[in-house]
Amino acid sequence: MKHQTSALEQILFTTRLTDLLAWARKNSLWPYVFGTACCGIEYMSVVGPKHDAARFGAEVVRFSPRQADLLIVAGTISEKMGPVVKKVYEQMSEPKWVMAMGACAASGGFYRAYHVLQGVDQVMPVDIYVAGCPPTPEAVLAGLLMLQQKIQSEARPRKTMA
Ligand code: SF4
Repeated sequence: MKHQTSALEQILFTTRLTDLLAWARKNSLWPYVFGTACCGIEYMSVVGPKHDAARFGAEVVRFSPRQADLLIVAGTISEKMGPVVKKVYEQMSEPKWVMAMGACAASGGFYRAYHVLQGVDQVMPVDIYVAGCPPTPEAVLAGLLMLQQKIQSEARPRKTMA
């Protein structure tokens, strides 16, 4: 016997609250860009009309960490700047995520020197690393999509092997 879809089922869908929240969060990220060098300039084209981060709900760049849930570290971070960016991270409320944009933020880049932090993950947890010097806007958007997948998957408890 064929399953008959009721009129109610045609207009309603069911989901879990955690999935719904994750869906809303991943599609309305509010970035705070900690731009210190060339990658910060490159980020501007990500939110410009050509690449248009608004398509992914992440175009409302904030200028206060208290209003942001995505910290994008874009540029070289010196040892002296390390505590500053850490303070910015700590001022963001939960849940929050971090993207290391470019070689410098991810690993210090070609600055193998005592005065440069060899990756911002030395002072905070990083969710997404975007490679490049600088990364292309397309690469940053690809990183954003990966982060969205991660946010959605975090809403689901991990399956354990029997
Ligand atoms: S990764 Fe390259 S483009 Fe980005 S801040 Fe470092 S030197 Fe500049």
